Amino acid sequence: MENKYNFKGFISFLKIFKDEQTCREFLEHLRWGGKPVCVNCGNSEKIYRLKSERTLKCSKCDRNFRVTNGTVFHSTHISLQNWFIAIYLFSSNKNGLSSCQLAKHLEITQPNAWYVLDRIRNVMDKSKQFDEILEGIIEADESYIGGKNKNRHWDKKFKYSQGRSVVDKKPVFGILQRNGMVKVWTLDKLDGVEMKTIIRTNVVKKSIVCTDEYRVYRGLKNKKRFKHYVIDHSKSQHKIDEFYHTNNIENFWNFIKRAVTGTYHKVDKIYLNKYAKEAAYRYNTRKMSDGIRFIELLKECVQTKLK
Ligand SMILES: [Zn+2]
Repeated sequence: MENKYNFKGFISFLKIFKDEQTCREFLEHLRWGGKPVCVNCGNSEKIYRLKSERTLKCSKCDRNFRVTNGTVFHSTHISLQNWFIAIYLFSSNKNGLSSCQLAKHLEITQPNAWYVLDRIRNVMDKSKQFDEILEGIIEADESYIGGKNKNRHWDKKFKYSQGRSVVDKKPVFGILQRNGMVKVWTLDKLDGVEMKTIIRTNVVKKSIVCTDEYRVYRGLKNKKRFKHYVIDHSKSQHKIDEFYHTNNIENFWNFIKRAVTGTYHKVDKIYLNKYAKEAAYRYNTRKMSDGIRFIELLKECVQTKLK
């Protein structure tokens, strides 16, 4: 499967997923591997296809079902091909895709485009990749992401909103495995106990954790758990012994901020968690080709059960 879907760009993508039927058959293949399973009772014997092609009938429970039942594609007025295009464009644009941009591409309304992107973000948020436990050299760091103070009207500016103040923005905490993946959490406030608990439950024992000198990380060092390297930025220190630094996670924060200011312009605090997870998802799949990343995300779309 890998080679065919390692397509060069959007034109090749459209040639493969050329119509509604092709997209539906592909989704059925991803979900059931060629042998449909009734979504109501789990039976896979004697499943019939009705005249409309996309509807299947189970001989055991006598109920009808479609490949989209129970997935993000269920009961929407968006065609499957439009969903495929949205997933492709959204996952292949490095800095994300706004609902206005998607609405133009698909010739649908902006609220509909927003709905599509929100559903895809829900899938990214629940991605299996975030179940992974990190190990080796870990960079842990926090950053404030949100509205820009300099763009506010003078009487709406928040004092002391730069750096580690919570008034204007929301803190995002992240841990990144060297040469590996990143995991992120949006917090209500920076809390040392909570942040250290996150590290302990998401990092394999005996790993090496690098942080800056911020006090919330104090107490992380423990013979049985982690080695802790503190990079003291206040003393212009940027690394210890070549290997121990937090440069990669700091680059990741720049990556999120570029998407937020460049593509989304501003992000409401309520949605920050989803945007942070979206950025982490992009970062973690950065080495995949656009085609393979699309297939992986599509698989998660058809396998993730959303409320
Ligand atoms: Zn059934």
